[in-house]
Amino acid sequence: MERELKGSAQEQYVRMLSKSLDSVQRMRIQMGNRIKAFKKNHGEDYGELVDALTTRMWDQADLMERNIAADLAKAVAALPVTKWLEQVKGIGARLSGPLAGVAAPIGKYRTVSAFWSSMGYGVVTVCVECVNLHLVGKERRRFLDRQTQRRWDIYKTSDNFEARVERVGDDPDRVVAFIREAMVEHRAEEYEKSEKQLCSCEAPVLKKSAPNLKYYGGLILPYDPYLKSMCWRIAGQFVRQGEFYREWYDRYKERYQLSCPDLPIGHIDNRARRAMVKLFLSHLWEMWRKAEGLPAGRTYLQEQLGEKYSENHTFIEPPYADTFDKKPKQP
Ligand SMILES: [Zn+2]
Repeated sequence: MERELKGSAQEQYVRMLSKSLDSVQRMRIQMGNRIKAFKKNHGEDYGELVDALTTRMWDQADLMERNIAADLAKAVAALPVTKWLEQVKGIGARLSGPLAGVAAPIGKYRTVSAFWSSMGYGVVTVCVECVNLHLVGKERRRFLDRQTQRRWDIYKTSDNFEARVERVGDDPDRVVAFIREAMVEHRAEEYEKSEKQLCSCEAPVLKKSAPNLKYYGGLILPYDPYLKSMCWRIAGQFVRQGEFYREWYDRYKERYQLSCPDLPIGHIDNRARRAMVKLFLSHLWEMWRKAEGLPAGRTYLQEQLGEKYSENHTFIEPPYADTFDKKPKQP
């Protein structure tokens, strides 16, 4: 069960290292900003002290980052999908490995669309009238359940809640009962609050859109922002030095220039990057599943999606598609 939800021990190890590396980088930036702000106000009196602190901090953070990155590179090398990722020109396993570790296990994404959505590359329906997410039926209920669960998960570990629990006393039965009651209450409140943030218009005006922060005021994003930012960095690398995916980027760009000639060049670039990343992710999904011996490919997707199935860029054949073929090649 754990394997199904969280991935193999090796994948969890990669995830732990990736997130640690991310934390160190974040910490370094935050500390740098804090020091800069302090120096701006008190540079005259503390200039030398602050400069020494900055140098020391950079050296230490740099060492820590390099150590974690070295462990991470080794850990990524042991992932089955790395055999394919290593061949993809333009990105090192240092970028794609963490993506795989954090997204794992691949078995939990039944379709390419589910994989896209988890990285913020799916499509959401929004209402133009109220500028909110529009969800109905089962999807709406599932979204609200997830929201309330996540918000409770955050609240139950807060100082505020822990202080409330402490005030209940030492009787374990009473503590358990208190927590249970608080959970029911908290979730009911959050459910109501979240519901108000979804479109409930009588006559909604709908439009399909890429997930965009402005539609999520206060809602917990339905995708993992870490994965989305990794995808964005991967896109940058492909545009700079990718071969296969860079070529597709150029093709998409040309297509958008022809189909939307009035669109500013920046938007066209964004759209082309987005299409390129989606293509890469669909290949990663397929090759990763193959590496794990899971069903993938056109016939499998047709079965899974039934009527919803349509030909899309999933079926641009991945480069190095034979990476995991066991049969030796005929001479
Ligand atoms: Zn609406």
